[in-house]
Amino acid sequence: MEYLESVADKYKFIFDKTFDQIALVDMDLYIVEANRSATVVFGMGLSIQGKKCYEIFHRRESPCVDCPLFASYETGKVVSITFYDEKIGEHFEERTYPITDDNGLLVGFIIVTRNVTTTLEIENKSYLAKKLIALGQISSGVAHDFNNVLTGVLGRIQLLKRTVKDKNLLKQINMIEKSALDGASKVAKIQEFSRTRKSKEFKTINLKELVTDVIEMTRPKWKELADKKGMIIEPVIEMSDEIHVIGDESDLRNAFTNIIFNAVDAMPEGGIIEIRAEDFNNIVKIYIRDTGVGMSDEVKEKIFDPFFTTKGHAGTGLGMSEVYGIIRSHNGMIEIESEVGKGTTIILTLPTGKKTEREKIVKEEKVETIPLNVMAIDDEEYILEVIRDILLEFGHNVATFQNPKEAIEEFKNEQYDVVLTDLGMPVMSGFDVARKIKSINKNTTVILLTGWNIKEEDDKKVTDYADYVLRKPFSIDNLVSVISESSRKVVQRIREKSEKKSKNKSASTTDNHTG
Ligand code: ADP
Ligand code: MG
Repeated sequence: MEYLESVADKYKFIFDKTFDQIALVDMDLYIVEANRSATVVFGMGLSIQGKKCYEIFHRRESPCVDCPLFASYETGKVVSITFYDEKIGEHFEERTYPITDDNGLLVGFIIVTRNVTTTLEIENKSYLAKKLIALGQISSGVAHDFNNVLTGVLGRIQLLKRTVKDKNLLKQINMIEKSALDGASKVAKIQEFSRTRKSKEFKTINLKELVTDVIEMTRPKWKELADKKGMIIEPVIEMSDEIHVIGDESDLRNAFTNIIFNAVDAMPEGGIIEIRAEDFNNIVKIYIRDTGVGMSDEVKEKIFDPFFTTKGHAGTGLGMSEVYGIIRSHNGMIEIESEVGKGTTIILTLPTGKKTEREKIVKEEKVETIPLNVMAIDDEEYILEVIRDILLEFGHNVATFQNPKEAIEEFKNEQYDVVLTDLGMPVMSGFDVARKIKSINKNTTVILLTGWNIKEEDDKKVTDYADYVLRKPFSIDNLVSVISESSRKVVQRIREKSEKKSKNKSASTTDNHTG
């Protein structure tokens, strides 16, 4: 405080201590006065007095056409522009204030500039962040729609598979199904990116089936491409049918695909890709060996780095970092053995999966099902049609509704064993439908269908109102097995009821007897 009191010329003091660059300019555009910051920043420490403003502030040889002064003078408002100074390498905001004499005549102006580089960077980042969020929202919407479409496609394909006997045709249908499933796993990826996909779906997976699928799915890369180049790449799978791992199927598929793509890339003259696996009780070791170019120690060290690639524009460098992430999230390990000129072996370790007793029981008991009355609610007509056709095929009765409110009215009048409802509908959410149905008849099995990922905060709603959740696209097997399970419950209820009745009967007979 004392120091400030002692400052002789406080105005000059403020003028010079301000971080903004300030200059007083006359009508001929000569700088009459400039503060210290303007001298330091734009004059590089040399006096800028007596120089033209455009020379100093914009390093130009003639007056600026976009000079904010004129716009400001015409409108009576302060106009600001931003410019980039190449020599300094920073962004500035510039404001020009007109100065008029007592008669209102323009006599000069004040230029104030300020470095806004950091502000712009922050704005840019937040713009990018906003854009990413928007992109996430758009893609999760698109993913949802695609799940609906895929439900239609897969449902129809699987219905078709049940009727077609021609082997050749069946093979083609299987390929369409694989592509559709592949599409579904891509959609799941998008959902993961937009973080709407819930936690991974870990289950017991038959390794040989999975690997065979991946080899089949990557055929265009190792077969067709190799054929074109006149070379031969031969995949060999060597493992028992009995090996199971615990994992997320679409994730593991993705990891194997990346590894196989790399192996193919490493064999420009062709070669062998061998996939072997051994079960050590608690862990399964999987060896993916190629006879390709191999890797130097340097490459080996960087292989998991995101964006590290030796393939130039042909590579993204994301494959192995993705594999690493997937294997880690499976509590697994990944090792690399490689020798330049000889080939590479990628060794994955994953937890062993055991076929559970429960799964066996479900399969055995499937026989004991009775035709059910099923109500299906979805705002998309073609989804309803697929569901109806599948359930009719399995001998159930189906009523379909596009409007959930009408469905609930109908539910009050008719007896339904199972209600299948879509989650996201315009009129009423699936959760509300489920709640209403359960409040009318708590014995009705409610199955929620959804192409969205159920948010964690909605988990409770699911456990409270729904018996099952089926993610779109679902397979016929998925749908039929939950319906069969409901059917078993109905059978059990009927049995319990009749047992109770006969018990009551015998109880009343005893009563009569004593009485
Ligand atoms: P990309 O395939 O896009 O280059 P990846 O993350 O999949 O990215 O792989 C990174 C790098 O690791 C590759 O560019 C390659 O140099 C090396 N690499 C991966 N797998 C193999 C392999 N089987 N044989 C030789 N080099 C490999
Ligand atoms: Mg790769």
